[in-house]
Amino acid sequence: MPNFDYDLFVIGGGSGGVRAARMAAQRGARVGLAEVGALGGTCVNVGCIPKKLYSYAAHYAAAFEESRAYGWDFDGLRFDWARLKANRAVEITRLNGIYAGLLKSSGVTVLNGWASLADGHTVEVDGKRLTAQHILLATGGRPSVPDVPWRDQVLVSDDMFDLPTLPRRLLVVGGGYIASEMASIFHGLGAEVTQVLRGGTLLRGFDADISTFLAAEMRKTGVQLRLNTQVSGLARHGESWTAQLKTDDDTVSLPVDAVLYATGRTPRSAGMGLAEAGVQLDENGAVVVDARYASSLPSVFALGDVTNRLQLTPVALGEAMALVDDLFGPARGKPVRHMAYEYIPTAVFTHPNVGTVGFTEAEAREEFGAVDVYRSEFKVLKHTISGSTERTLVKLLVDKASDRVVGLHMVGPDAGEIVQGFAVALKAGATKAVFDQTIGIHPTLAEEFVTLREPLP
Ligand code: FAD
Ligand code: NDP
Repeated sequence: MPNFDYDLFVIGGGSGGVRAARMAAQRGARVGLAEVGALGGTCVNVGCIPKKLYSYAAHYAAAFEESRAYGWDFDGLRFDWARLKANRAVEITRLNGIYAGLLKSSGVTVLNGWASLADGHTVEVDGKRLTAQHILLATGGRPSVPDVPWRDQVLVSDDMFDLPTLPRRLLVVGGGYIASEMASIFHGLGAEVTQVLRGGTLLRGFDADISTFLAAEMRKTGVQLRLNTQVSGLARHGESWTAQLKTDDDTVSLPVDAVLYATGRTPRSAGMGLAEAGVQLDENGAVVVDARYASSLPSVFALGDVTNRLQLTPVALGEAMALVDDLFGPARGKPVRHMAYEYIPTAVFTHPNVGTVGFTEAEAREEFGAVDVYRSEFKVLKHTISGSTERTLVKLLVDKASDRVVGLHMVGPDAGEIVQGFAVALKAGATKAVFDQTIGIHPTLAEEFVTLREPLP
């Protein structure tokens, strides 16, 4: 048995890497971890956390407006971008420290630097060679911009949190999670936002009803949403730009102050000697793994965004815990954890929010054949007097044969909070009859999910 420096060496100190390193060390493994940037990775530094903080900031805009109907009056309302950035930075630094503390207290050795793979049992961190029985690639992804002439001049999501000034007019390219969230956030903070999508559907892959409903709601808030539109030209004039927005029918010019491309993310696998060491990558640069997260080099594993599957923090965390249980055994008295990819809930922090778990209507019809669709669209109580025209959509999909609820979707306030709870029910196989027997909490919008009586004809 060769004498390795570590039982496990993790490359990447983001969501998946930190969780795997900590859990393995808690099982008694000798663990090293290399991180080239800030601990916490994408989610903590330029993803979920700062995004959600900015989303909270943006939601105040509507809340202030709505509060007048509730009797509030105020003068001199003003938004201070610099203060939000500074407070965000303090919180992120605090979280970086918590990650460092958790790794230290678990006994993980952290190396700050760029790691590459020399062979199946050897990593190199800034010229230093270290050996490990198992190596985990948890290097995440990075924003990807299409091959347009202005590619190197536009903003990507990483840049949005520290912009020197809040853009007055922002062009957002893309229709996925990041584009839609950023459009909502920057609109809420006061920018005039135009969001352009090359296709006809916002959040492609979500339930079609949800996409259409969200598009209508975002438009109501004031986001200029242009479907089936490409950016065919972008010219810079000092501090601003003129964008040419092209549809099948015409081309319009749009003056803007900042341009964000949120057009997907690419696995971060280049420049680390992976292919040279024998790790198979797919055509997008994702590490190809089997059901145990093993790459084509059996001692090298990969999980999270670098495998380019579901790019969500809880998925990376779940994969990390399953891998550690598999390699080092489960925690004392606990069963081995496996990662299941069905019924993973997700939320999009647009204004209003989207929450979803399970099959879309199209997928459910494909999978189960006969499906009952329950759908309700309404104004939440808060907006009956707030003056807001915002509407909420809830939708349930039920497999007719088994009565199992196989899809639950919503657009509305706190969708992520609401759907998280219902995800447990769907995961447990709850039937529509169980939903019907569940007593609602009144008055809430979530009670709608347990009071849907008649399926659509
Ligand atoms: P990461 O968290 O990206 O960590 C990878 C780490 O590896 C990085 O710190 C990187 O510096 C380091 N690294 C890379 N190469 C090397 C190397 N060679 N040597 C040393 N270190 C290296 N998910 C949600 O669930 N909810 C959300 O609300 C959400 N919002 C998001 C918002 C935005 C704007 C973005 C971009 C993403 C968001 N995500 C969200 C997705 C989520 O951030 C990712 O799915 C998650 O961070 C993936 O974790 P990971 O461990 O695979 O990679
Ligand atoms: P997505 O895959 O969600 O969306 C990419 C968007 O870019 C799509 O609208 C796509 O259009 C469009 N696009 C792709 N290529 C081009 C091109 N060449 N020209 C014009 N448009 C293009 O990626 P994101 O970057 O938004 O987010 C990456 C991932 O990060 C998400 O999938 C999600 O897993 C994660 N994330 C999660 C969040 C959350 O949990 N709340 C928040 C933010 C990110 P089309 O639909 O036509 O392909």
